[in-house]
Amino acid sequence: MKYTSTRSKITPVTSAEAILQGLAPDGGLFVPETIPKIKLEDIQRFTKMRYVQRAAEILKKFLTDYTEDELFECAELAYNWFDTPAKVPLSVLVQDPNNPKNPVGVAELWHGPTSAFKDLALQILPRLMGYALKKTGEQKEILILVATSGDTGKAALAGFADVPQTKIMVFYPNGGVSQIQRLQMITQVGGNVNVTAVNGNFDDAQAGVKKIFGDEKIRQQLAEENIKLSSANSINWGRLVPQIVYYFSAYAEFINTKQLKLGEAVNIVVPTGNFGNILAAYYAKRMGLPVKRLICASNVNNVLTEFFRTGVYNRNREFHRTISPSMDILVSSNLERLLYHEGHSDQVKRFMTQLNTTGNFRIDPPLKKKLDKIFYADFATEEDTLKIIKEIFEHFKYTVDPHTAVAMKVLSKYRRDTHDMTSCIVAATASPFKFTNAVLTAIGEPVEGLNDFKQLDRLSIVANRTIPKNLAKLDGAEILHSDVCEKDEMAERVLKFAASHHEN
Ligand SMILES: *Cc1c(COP(=O)(O)O)cnc(C)c1O
Repeated sequence: MKYTSTRSKITPVTSAEAILQGLAPDGGLFVPETIPKIKLEDIQRFTKMRYVQRAAEILKKFLTDYTEDELFECAELAYNWFDTPAKVPLSVLVQDPNNPKNPVGVAELWHGPTSAFKDLALQILPRLMGYALKKTGEQKEILILVATSGDTGKAALAGFADVPQTKIMVFYPNGGVSQIQRLQMITQVGGNVNVTAVNGNFDDAQAGVKKIFGDEKIRQQLAEENIKLSSANSINWGRLVPQIVYYFSAYAEFINTKQLKLGEAVNIVVPTGNFGNILAAYYAKRMGLPVKRLICASNVNNVLTEFFRTGVYNRNREFHRTISPSMDILVSSNLERLLYHEGHSDQVKRFMTQLNTTGNFRIDPPLKKKLDKIFYADFATEEDTLKIIKEIFEHFKYTVDPHTAVAMKVLSKYRRDTHDMTSCIVAATASPFKFTNAVLTAIGEPVEGLNDFKQLDRLSIVANRTIPKNLAKLDGAEILHSDVCEKDEMAERVLKFAASHHEN
């Protein structure tokens, strides 16, 4: 299978090339030329398999220039670290155990080494890149640059630490991430990692990284050091394809609980920011997973809700900081892939040009009609989010983080508005322990006077769950990265890090 661009007809590339390049040469995103199919018999087989085997089966449909052994090895090594043998366990919530109607399966995507769903992609991406380097004969060292508002930075560090022929450098806004997120990053071990705080906000850090990517002179200087820049953000195909796996896996697990029959349709609810996670669910549906509707859940940064309802995407709006910060996004990059698959590249090019020049675009009515059949979209306010955390805790003795809570709230609105009670899979994207303050506050536990680690302890008792090891061990961990720079010093820091030699 080959990959083309969302914006024009380019010479098709292999998946290894798509993964290494990140962005297509015309500025578009790489997309598969066709979407492979999975049959119900395959899903039946998945019910008897381990997660890693399911992963190899799905990945091989898209990454056809990798051998099955390579893919299996990548998945095995990537998910080895997860804190539960199921890797992505499904917790089924039912109102009445004696009458289990309309079950909601919560796919816990946060059992990886940084307690956020991004681990499922960022643990395997470096390994896929490793093989891509071999397959394409690339001799240069790859330098991954990341600007982060919290979760992506740590997940990328954990994934790329000590991976041969790679280096990773993460910039985060000084004072702009939570204390736990900061500790997660500045205690990262590995001979090929650098973490630098930028005096500025997230947009400054991101603008700095984008500028470096676009700077021909820096690329030239790096090439002299035998280094090539790359990115680990969610527009990379190598990040997207591993996310398709867990929708098939969750469906297979649901069947194993006997609360779903093979072939029975489900709705999938996804708390959405950059549109990567829900796009993976869309691919799963196109491949043949029995999905009725994809429910796109946003917080008050509800640009996608408006888009799916009106057909107008408008980024010119106020930006809100919320208790679900990983969804505080106004430009959902991966939407471009959906528009390509349901429309065509001429449209995508037009929409993206409009978005760049005016900040908005309107899709054509036939395209809007197609999307209406597949998607439903709504959003949750901050108050809704806190309230539903409490309700779920009281009804089911189950704790969800604020991102997952947004999805649960939108699901309840969907069921109320449409009376469609189809069984659901909800993507749970972060551990509640990553957002202890919001979760404790929501369920009415006092947090005053409790530092981050005391809050972890408190939540562990209240929720009757163990604290993820990676978070517990931050207490007292050695600080390894204390670099700080100004916004206009980022390029200089990149060159300095590029020239440094591995410590291992
Ligand atoms: C990144 C993230 C999201 C948003 O996922 P997208 O793929 O960007 O839509 C939701 N929840 C959490 C916890 C995240 O880290």
